Amino acid sequence: MIKINENFLKLQAGYLFPEIGRRVAAHAAANPQAPIIKLGIGDVTEPLPPAIIEAMHAAVDEMARDETFRGYGPEQGYEFLRKAVIENDFLPRGVDLEPDEVFISDGSKCDVGNFQEIFGLDNVVAVTDPVYPVYVDTNVMAGRTGDALQQGGYGQIVYMPCIAENNFVPELPAEPVDLVYLCYPNNPTGAVAGAEQLSKWVDYARQNKAIILFDAAYEAFISDPAIPHSIYEIDGAKEVAVEFRSFSKTAGFTGIRCALTVVPKALRAYTAAGAAVDVKAIWNRRHSTKFNGASYISQAGAAATYTPEGKTQIRAIIDLYMSNAATIRRSLTKLGYEVYGGVNAPYVWLKTPDGVGSWDFFDILLSKADVVGTPGAGFGAWGEGYFRLSAFNKPESVKEAMDRFAKLIW
Ligand SMILES: *Cc1c(COP(=O)(O)O)cnc(C)c1O
Repeated sequence: MIKINENFLKLQAGYLFPEIGRRVAAHAAANPQAPIIKLGIGDVTEPLPPAIIEAMHAAVDEMARDETFRGYGPEQGYEFLRKAVIENDFLPRGVDLEPDEVFISDGSKCDVGNFQEIFGLDNVVAVTDPVYPVYVDTNVMAGRTGDALQQGGYGQIVYMPCIAENNFVPELPAEPVDLVYLCYPNNPTGAVAGAEQLSKWVDYARQNKAIILFDAAYEAFISDPAIPHSIYEIDGAKEVAVEFRSFSKTAGFTGIRCALTVVPKALRAYTAAGAAVDVKAIWNRRHSTKFNGASYISQAGAAATYTPEGKTQIRAIIDLYMSNAATIRRSLTKLGYEVYGGVNAPYVWLKTPDGVGSWDFFDILLSKADVVGTPGAGFGAWGEGYFRLSAFNKPESVKEAMDRFAKLIW
């Protein structure tokens, strides 16, 4: 008899986005003329700029000729891309990496979801609350957690509250933890972590022989020059941190698929007997066993984001999204809302007025203003009372959504 992996049965139904979809569909069915504006999704809206399109067209043409056709590439990614990543994303910030410390893939969601599998099941996992659900659910599937709890979340996971009072950066946990997921700039709160805050975490990891999985998917949206773009800007981080980056939000690659994971050669995990193990070697073994490389065409497109034209063009798109974020912040602040984020990240995290629950706020906004956002409670218990608005949309739509907010009467 074939047995199922019962850890999968512990998973709570993917509740958030299906539930939003259901409520939006019901509203649209009841109000077929409703001019719905979606500020709920974490997906880009602008098409790819010309420098990237040209590079991908050229790559397709290479595939059409005997002399330039390419089959399987290196599982870790083409050297041209790994070198471009290091030279453009890391060296200018004082972070020196070798090409074999950079692993190209087809997405950060897979990398950040897969990485946990090279660690033992008895590690204690710590996540922020609110949290990007991938970090939690992949640990549930692996069997590193207890059952779903009545109050939300899962047993045996350490949830670290991120609220206005701590600027949405968690305090160090009271109990020892082994694997820590941090995401800055943060989805969903739009918060950033400064060098001092990251240093505390790096020191903690070094003292406790823990590892930090640092999700930097939104680093390109940082505007404050004092905020680190990479955790490796912090001394000692190469011994304790993995960093995930993606071309998805940076360059509009959500439908193209290309990302990278940095696993420094200095990074160590330990056997039960306490012997140090080279994590990069293990990840390389895992990656090359289960993954056969990202598409050459995607990698050629990703490399084009580092050409002078590519840089200018993707910067213009990021600026457009960030000007949307500024519009949202400015409008809501004027209306008296407490707003966070939206300065170094494409998300604005607002406190719901008068202590309205985040799902009630969702329903009011949808029914009275035809605007869709994301209830904070969907990202964790500490997200209750908050609401996420995304800056990924057309400027006209964002302005229109803000005009409707202004007419909302509570
Ligand atoms: C969008 C996003 C990613 C990127 O995922 P891809 O699979 O590379 O598209 C990673 N982490 C967070 C928190 C995100 O919001």
